[in-house]
Amino acid sequence: MVNGKLKDRGYRITAGRKAILDVLMNTEGHLSAEDIYLKVHPTYPSIGLASVYRTLDILVNVGIIYKLDFNDRKARYELAEGPGGKRHHHHLICSVCNQVIDYKDFSPEELELLKRVEDGLYKRYDFKITNHVIQFYGTCDACRNREKDVVQHYELCEKCIKMEN
Ligand SMILES: [Zn+2]
Ligand SMILES: [Zn+2]
Ligand SMILES: [Zn+2]
Repeated sequence: MVNGKLKDRGYRITAGRKAILDVLMNTEGHLSAEDIYLKVHPTYPSIGLASVYRTLDILVNVGIIYKLDFNDRKARYELAEGPGGKRHHHHLICSVCNQVIDYKDFSPEELELLKRVEDGLYKRYDFKITNHVIQFYGTCDACRNREKDVVQHYELCEKCIKMEN
């Protein structure tokens, strides 16, 4: 199916492209171009970082992978699995430490809501939705606790109180 998408758009499946796709299909998580380059390099030493970038652009254009931005100045890539895919997940992104939590333990209410939203959009815009990327931004548990500690320290510490006054 993935190979079909490339062929349909007139791209050849070169050994280099296949090696990059294999890495993306066999690795969970969000890989940067450098990560992918380092993983492809041992099995396919002739590939350069520039051609990894070029291939990733092609795969994004064809819709096989998504390019994601987690606010850490580095693009990440992952396989674009539709809601039926076994690795389909949504993201919780901490704006403080930039950690990304993948979750796929969707509740029935959540699935129902998404389906209603997509059906509604289909009717309003006559737009057939095949996939979605959902990212929630916020603060993770550890970062919230750290912030609380800082506030508490600030309120209790005599040196901090003196500096303030
Ligand atoms: Zn989803
Ligand atoms: Zn955090
Ligand atoms: Zn992800």
